[in-house]
Amino acid sequence: MSAVNREPVLDGWGFAGESFPPPAALWAWLQERLEGPCEPLPRWRPHRFRPPAGRRLPKLPGEVSTEALDRLRHARGRGLTDLVRLRTGTVPALPDAVLRPADVAELSSILAICSQAQVGVVPWGGGTSVTGGVNITAGPQKMISLDLARFRGLLELDDASGLATFGAGTPGPEVERPLAARGLTLGHYPQSWELSTVGGWVATRASGQESLGYGGIESLVAGVDLVAPRGGWSLAPQPASAAGPDLRQLVLGSEGRLGVIHRATLRVSARPQAAEVRAALLPSWSAGIEAVRTLVRARSGLHLLRLSDELETGVGLRVGLAGRRLAAALLRRWLLVRGAGAPGCLLLYGAAGRPRRVRGALAAAASVLRDHRALRLGAGPGRRWLADRFRHPYLRDALLDRGVAVDTLETAAPWSRLEDLTAAVRTALTATAAAWSERCPVLAHVSHPYPDGGSLYFTFFFRCPLDPEQAVERWAELKRAATRALLAAGGTLSHHHGVGAWHAPWLEDEIGRSGRTVLERAAAALDPDGILSPAALLDPTDRLEE
Ligand SMILES: Cc1cc2nc3c(=O)[nH]c(=O)nc-3n(C[C@H](O)[C@H](O)[C@H](O)COP(=O)(O)OP(=O)(O)OC[C@H]3O[C@@H](n4cnc5c(N)ncnc54)[C@H](O)[C@@H]3O)c2cc1C
Repeated sequence: MSAVNREPVLDGWGFAGESFPPPAALWAWLQERLEGPCEPLPRWRPHRFRPPAGRRLPKLPGEVSTEALDRLRHARGRGLTDLVRLRTGTVPALPDAVLRPADVAELSSILAICSQAQVGVVPWGGGTSVTGGVNITAGPQKMISLDLARFRGLLELDDASGLATFGAGTPGPEVERPLAARGLTLGHYPQSWELSTVGGWVATRASGQESLGYGGIESLVAGVDLVAPRGGWSLAPQPASAAGPDLRQLVLGSEGRLGVIHRATLRVSARPQAAEVRAALLPSWSAGIEAVRTLVRARSGLHLLRLSDELETGVGLRVGLAGRRLAAALLRRWLLVRGAGAPGCLLLYGAAGRPRRVRGALAAAASVLRDHRALRLGAGPGRRWLADRFRHPYLRDALLDRGVAVDTLETAAPWSRLEDLTAAVRTALTATAAAWSERCPVLAHVSHPYPDGGSLYFTFFFRCPLDPEQAVERWAELKRAATRALLAAGGTLSHHHGVGAWHAPWLEDEIGRSGRTVLERAAAALDPDGILSPAALLDPTDRLEE
């Protein structure tokens, strides 16, 4: 950790000096499954970057940066093709400037001027969007990236009510630090936690890995304050309200189209005194889904449930058991006794809170799991997963260095549809790759479970063509096929990554023409010139290849 420089890298994920090279067992597994050799995707040198100057903008207040690398940093989010474009120097468009307003007065004035001059404004939190949400699109409209970095930190704490108000640009660690000092937590841990921000979480309807216990951001937000070109909009925190439809829920997932969020009041809880994640193996994917469903329905007090399918389990065990002969032999023996040829599906289940409550929740879960013929593996796999959970994203860059592209996609559906949905998405991805005579291994897991269904998360790999345009085209084909398949199988367009620009062509399939009209009218009421995030949420243009 000492070599880690907390400066975010320009052409990849995370912070300079941090990395997560693929474990040898994972690399061997990938080489077995991908057709042919993989050639490293080279990294250019962004520091030599000389872009054309930004177009002339009207006079704007506050800090206006036209510095090349600042504009490059704010040109793209952190989806797979963003990484490909950033590392190969093929980013098609940059913002004309990056603005960092210092306060609400400056923010309001920027929006009023941009509205009058028809300059597009893309709010920027941590820039971790994986749906093209912060990407600058090429075209005649001048564009600025509006970085919320100066709206930062804990602004107010209502201890009696458990309400903490944060500036929208506050990243995950700076949310938890002041709360921890007061014995509190928000408990919102998306995998992008180290970089993503309060405003971004609200704007995308994000979900943390412990959403079973703490809730997704949609249940953590009590109040929110925005500024739109039409003026400020404040939705004060209330525990509940029947004052018409809940407009906070309209802001959640609005992806910048309804205004720039500058602060949010969040529901916080007592910091847990104890937390533990344990592991178990379930005989099959359908037995695992049934066990998770039972655990959630039983309201067993768990705060985390994550079930890997057989393939993800196989890879996980291969990596986890590499060099651990005794553990591997014990597992083989158990499988023999069970008459099973394969290990089945790995479940991580965790609880947090007072030590007695944690012990009670884990014991209750263990008893349900026994009824589902699970083999309990103890706390080791959970400990390793917790230790590495924010390091896993670095693997994407390390695999591109070896010529392998890896991406993820996610959805959610009622329990009754999850198995068919898994098969449909896997078939769509593998069939698309087969048409190029390539292979595309697909791993899946269920996380974020609810009484009526759960979120399905897929990780897929393919050999990355050396030509960045071909790499982007291939990814776009995979993404289109998977999205069509998941919608046809009854899944939602997104459980937590949001819509951004990349999912926008399919939004109407889910919410209907009327739903779209409601959103368009709301956006027009707050932003009559349509300058805010013009490519996100409501623009149906297919931008997957940009
Ligand atoms: C490796 C990796 C792991 C991830 N893991 C998760 C996960 O576990 N759970 C999850 O939910 N997501 C995850 N994501 C997706 C992403 O981190 C989330 O969408 C996150 O909420 C984005 O936050 P951000 O601050 O980076 O927003 P940005 O990427 O900066 O912006 C996202 C969108 O919100 C808008 N926006 C940002 N700030 C504001 C604001 N203040 N006001 C109005 N609009 C705004 C932007 O214009 C854009 O449309 C992951 C992404 C990566 C790259």
